[in-house]
Amino acid sequence: MRNNRLLIGIITGIIAGSLLGGLNPDAGLAVHFIGHLFIKFLMMIVMPLIIAAMISGICRFGDVRKLGPLGFRTILYYLGTTAISVTTGIILVLMIHPGNLASETEQIEARGGIVLENAPYSIRDNTIILENSVLPDEYTSSYSVVLLDRNVKGTILFHRKNGNEHIEVSSWTQDNKPLTDLAVSGEGIAIDKLPAERFLQEERSITDILREVLTGLVPSNLFKAMAENDILPVITFSLLLGAVLSTLGEQGKPVVDFFNGLNEAIMKIVHLAMYAAPVGIGALIAGRLGEAGGFTGFLPELLRLGKYAFTVIAGLLIHSLIILPFILKFFGKTGITRFAANTTPALLTAFSTASSSATLPLTVECAEEKNGVKPRTAGFVLPLGATINMDGTALYEAVAVIFIAQINGITLGVPELAIVFLTATLAAIGAAGIPEAGLVTMVLVLKAVNLPIEGISLILAIDWFLDRCRTTVNVWGDSVGAKVIDRYVNS
Ligand code: ASP
Repeated sequence: MRNNRLLIGIITGIIAGSLLGGLNPDAGLAVHFIGHLFIKFLMMIVMPLIIAAMISGICRFGDVRKLGPLGFRTILYYLGTTAISVTTGIILVLMIHPGNLASETEQIEARGGIVLENAPYSIRDNTIILENSVLPDEYTSSYSVVLLDRNVKGTILFHRKNGNEHIEVSSWTQDNKPLTDLAVSGEGIAIDKLPAERFLQEERSITDILREVLTGLVPSNLFKAMAENDILPVITFSLLLGAVLSTLGEQGKPVVDFFNGLNEAIMKIVHLAMYAAPVGIGALIAGRLGEAGGFTGFLPELLRLGKYAFTVIAGLLIHSLIILPFILKFFGKTGITRFAANTTPALLTAFSTASSSATLPLTVECAEEKNGVKPRTAGFVLPLGATINMDGTALYEAVAVIFIAQINGITLGVPELAIVFLTATLAAIGAAGIPEAGLVTMVLVLKAVNLPIEGISLILAIDWFLDRCRTTVNVWGDSVGAKVIDRYVNS
């Protein structure tokens, strides 16, 4: 398909899908299965593509010793760009400070507490009596109670319901000074979680995380890894097989020819997938907006977390519109406009599927067919990039973790920021190229700086949207990387 026609098709699909799912969520949900079919089609070809592209790519180098410098440059590029993107994220979140919420009640709600603005209360013998039972049962000793109509806080000792709600308080404070007794009545209380109780004791060192990533490299069963779409171990196996085949000479030739042929055939299937992209992408967006309740369900959530979402998106834009184009121009000697236009089908697929792995077939197609990256480079660099080079995810993890700290009123010092920098980079490497994988590996970063995992629930509502944005940047980073590395390998 001609590039322009494809682009126009995809953009039309996106607009139609957004309008359909945004204005009529039910209709969006009804067409979601078409998008699901598109993802399944892409996932179906990912594993054979990786194996065939890597093995055939490696064998085309002719000499296995050339793999060393290629591998070294690839890892250097991945680590370098990921480090830059995490740094951008950290600087932005420290500057914008999205976790500074306007009022105390906003902060309490953000921490998962409960705010009852108009609840009448009376206090006798250090026991608050609420007229109606409104609190869930778990509100006991690990929480504090805030009297909203006066600047008083108390630590909950005991919570009992029998018609009325009785909350026994062990100690009161006003402006952080202890109060002995309170006998008042008023209106409006909030239940906040006490910081100390929210913290997890479980420590997890950087070495633990590193160990996990490294052991994940080797499959105990190749077919199990393939069946579970676990890309990294399949890459290890393909690398090994390709390297060994390239040293076998005549004996290995039939096998190499087989993989070359398989690679060609798979790329033809990818070509077919391109035709389905406009409809598939449109249906995925319609379905996801439908799931979020249309524009009216999604926009209030986005606005509620607006400052945080803005910080993530601003970081992603800086990385993808300033830093990566600079690297492409300076190191890849390639202009941005045409390169970006050629990569757009892959980028929009990344946005709609939220999966670098599912997008991989299109990433390879755009790099090889349109941007002139040699298949031997693309076959090596892109599958690896789809799993371990995640600039967008790394940036997002750093911003999200520091945001959660800010919401909890915790200031991270330079040593903690250094840990966030390291663990966010590792967590992004460890994240699979599937939807919301970054949210899961973020637990590592939170634990490393001893922040509450429940903090994740704060950002959950709009994560599906930010996931799409960061996945697009992940794929963009891989595509730029393939071009840059290709230049150095060929020269
Ligand atoms: N969905 C992302 C990807 O596939 C990973 C993430 O959750 O950040 O690249």
